[in-house]
Order: sequence, then C-alpha cells, then structure tokens
Amino acid sequence: MSTKKLRRYTKQRRLVHDAIINRTDHPTAKEIFNELKPSGIGIATVYRQLAAMVEDGILATVDYDSETRYDPLTSPHAHIVCSVCNRISDIELPRDVNDLAPENLGFEVNEIELTWKGICNNCQ
Ligand SMILES: [Zn+2]
Ligand SMILES: [Zn+2]
Repeated sequence: MSTKKLRRYTKQRRLVHDAIINRTDHPTAKEIFNELKPSGIGIATVYRQLAAMVEDGILATVDYDSETRYDPLTSPHAHIVCSVCNRISDIELPRDVNDLAPENLGFEVNEIELTWKGICNNCQ
C-alpha cells in the first residue's frame, strides 16, 4: 500500500467519498456533482476532492471518450466498455496477465490497461 497523506476529513470530502466509494460504474465528476447538488456543494469542490482522493490512492482514473471517470477499485483489473451507453464495467484480470507483457523492451511496467469494447446486454 502507498503511504496515504493525512488530510483533514472535511464534510465535503466525506460527501464525495460516500458518493463514489461503492460505485462500480466509473462515474464522471459531473455525475457525482449532479447527485450531490442538493447538498449545495460546488462542482469545483467535487473536482478538487476527487483529485485529492486520486492523489491519496483511494481512487483510480479511467480516461475514456475524452472524459475522466473515477474508479474506487484501485487493484489491477480490466474494463469492458459499451460503445452505445458508454457504461464501463470491471473485469477481473487472469492471474497470468503478466505473461502478455513484452519482454526485453527495457520497460519498467507500472500499470496495465486492458479494455474490451462492445455493446452491452441492455443496448443490443
Ligand atoms: Zn450499453
Ligand atoms: Zn474499474
């Protein structure tokens, strides 16, 4: 585990945290903002709190369709994306996924990004 900076746990931080921490649908900041709107939180605050959670290693980001999505699942996993509704779902990686990494490139691999694209059950 990475060392997590101790941050003041503000009310706004807790709001944003609770809105995303159990999500599996990889929402955008705007989606989180729309849900939290009734609380009176500003969109800049939502962006700031999400960025702080990414910095602290609590959230990962997924860039898709020129938008950043936020992902509370920070352990290595793959994604499956629906090209119609843009829904992103998590897929467990096979244990031997590292066998796919090209060897002898002098690369130090930090991250693996693997995405299937297609049309989900709902959109077919
Ligand atoms: Zn779909
Ligand atoms: Zn994910």
